[in-house]
Parts: sequence; structure tokens; C-alpha cells
Amino acid sequence: MISWIVLSLGLALIAGASPTPANATLETRARAQVYSKCTVPNTVALTFDDGPYDYIYDISGKLLEKGAKGTFFFNGNNYQCIYSDANIARIQYVYGAGHQVASHTWAHKHLTQLSWDQVHDEMYRVELALQRIVGVTPAFMRPPYGEYNDMVLDASGVRGQGVVIWDFDSGDSAGVSAADSRQRYNDVANTHPSTILALNHETYYSTAFQVLTNAIDTLQAKGYRLVTLAECLGKPAYQNVGQRQQKDASWTC
Ligand SMILES: [Zn+2]
Repeated sequence: MISWIVLSLGLALIAGASPTPANATLETRARAQVYSKCTVPNTVALTFDDGPYDYIYDISGKLLEKGAKGTFFFNGNNYQCIYSDANIARIQYVYGAGHQVASHTWAHKHLTQLSWDQVHDEMYRVELALQRIVGVTPAFMRPPYGEYNDMVLDASGVRGQGVVIWDFDSGDSAGVSAADSRQRYNDVANTHPSTILALNHETYYSTAFQVLTNAIDTLQAKGYRLVTLAECLGKPAYQNVGQRQQKDASWTC
């Protein structure tokens, strides 16, 4: 009797595990989730794209001064090469300060115009850089320009990364003045949504020196907690956390 049950169970398990011919099943399993909003109530995730760049210490300092954390979506080779000594130091600093580091892909290309292999290459190079520089494999990526298609989502899913967009834009990369960016933060704080996922760029002087502190004060006055993206989603920031490595001649852009 027992052996019959075991045998039946075994067959059932084998049947359940049989390979499915439906590609759709594999695709569904692999496709990355897109996050355009935080989910933990009363949180704001301030995110900063396009670095590492010169203003990162100032941005981090202004966040920490107010008890806030931010999230940095790094390129590998956009404004600057990620492997310069200055940029390695910047990334190690913000990671050590408790901010989240994530991928903005390698060269800020339009991913929707690339092949499957090229998309993987754009993603892989930043993963490798973050593994080398701080020892982590990111769990989130933001596609340049916020542009993605099903192929980008599938590639991101295969690589274990959620795709992050935003529901608030400071407008810095679109040339919005510092005064108008501050007003945008005032306006969104006054409408008081449950959460805010804010797009900023660490490459603008105005963001670092004329908007950020005011925005933090405005948001905190409304009772928001300013946390990392991972915290605002209630998810792990990294797929793996290990040891950073020593720079060698292979660290090139
Ligand atoms: Zn960007």
C-alpha cells in the first residue's frame, strides 16, 4: 500500500515536472517585473541616474545629513569610465554609506534598438563592474531613457533584475530650472501620494546643490521616509553580496 502511494506520488511528480513545449511558459517565468512605484506605504525612493559623477559625495552628504538614503543607477561608460580610480572610490563610498547601487547599463544606449546579445552585453558589463568594485550583483536596473520592450524585460528577467522606471521626474535631465524642480517636489508632496519613486540625475549641479536639500525637507515635512529603492519595494537590493576585488589591468572601459 505504502509503496503504491509512493509510486503514484512519484509518477505525479514526474508528470508535473515534464518539460512543457509552451515557450510562453518559459517566457513568463523569465520576464522581468517593471516597477514604476514604491509599494511600502509612506516611502520615497530618491534615485539618481547616469553616474558615477563628480557630485556624488555632495548628494550622499545631503541625504545622510537628513537621515535619508538614495539609490544610484550607474552607467559603465557614459559621462566617465566606471573603472577610473575616482569612480571606484565614489561607488565604494556610496555603497559603504548604505545607499543602494544599481545598474543603468553600460553605455546609455537605447536598449530597444539593440539585439538580444547586445542588451545582455550592456547589462553584463555593469554587473561585472559592480561585482568587482563593491562585490554585489544588482537586483535592479533602469533602462536608459526609461525605454524597454519585451526583449529587454526577458533579458532582465534572465539576469535576475527588476526593471525600474519612476512615477515622479524632477525634470533635471529635461532642462527644468532648479526653481521648477523644487516646485515639482512641492506639488507632489502636497498631493501626498502613498509613495513616490523619484527620478533625478547625479550629473546636474542644480540637483545636487539647488534642489535636493529642499526636496528632502519638503518630503520629510509631509511625513515620508526617504529610503532606498529596495526598501521602498520591500525587496532585496542585490542578488549576491560578496567581497570586492583589487583593481587590475583587466578593469577597462
Ligand atoms: Zn540615464
